Amino acid sequence: MLGPEFPPFSSGSRSSTGSAHRPSEGCPIAAVRERLRRSGLRPTRQRMGLGILLFGKEHRHLSAETLFSEAQRAKVNVSLATIYNCLHAFTEAGLLRTVIVDGQQVIWDTNTSHHHHFVCDQDGSVIDVPAMVIDQSAINGVPDDMDVVDVQVIMRVRPILQRGHRLPQSK
Ligand SMILES: [Zn+2]
Repeated sequence: MLGPEFPPFSSGSRSSTGSAHRPSEGCPIAAVRERLRRSGLRPTRQRMGLGILLFGKEHRHLSAETLFSEAQRAKVNVSLATIYNCLHAFTEAGLLRTVIVDGQQVIWDTNTSHHHHFVCDQDGSVIDVPAMVIDQSAINGVPDDMDVVDVQVIMRVRPILQRGHRLPQSK
């Protein structure tokens, strides 16, 4: 059986932008506080500050270091260790999803719906790919006595400068 993290392939109306993110509704601060509370997280000052940076706009993919820089610019007084603590707490509460890029680097994704990613070799940018594009072919060949519990596909991409001319290998 496929679990709740792995919805049926036939759900043609699924959006890659998820369903719980409605930034235009009311006060963003109140919305973040409500979101934390509903996920069982106490809305501390630091969680609120980071939550507004993370959830106040459209869906985002970002590293802990990027969030740390944004927090400093926004005068949210947190250490990098606190950023990691909050990111892990948000992830455990189901507010974020992690994407492992390059074997080690973790990117946090505010889009918690089931989907896949393109990762650009040149600038590290991360782009969502709707799940239904990939899932059916990804599970072909799964042994009969096994169930698929999750599929996360990362496709490394690179810009094409001109027809037939690609940028040099980055590694
Ligand atoms: Zn994503």
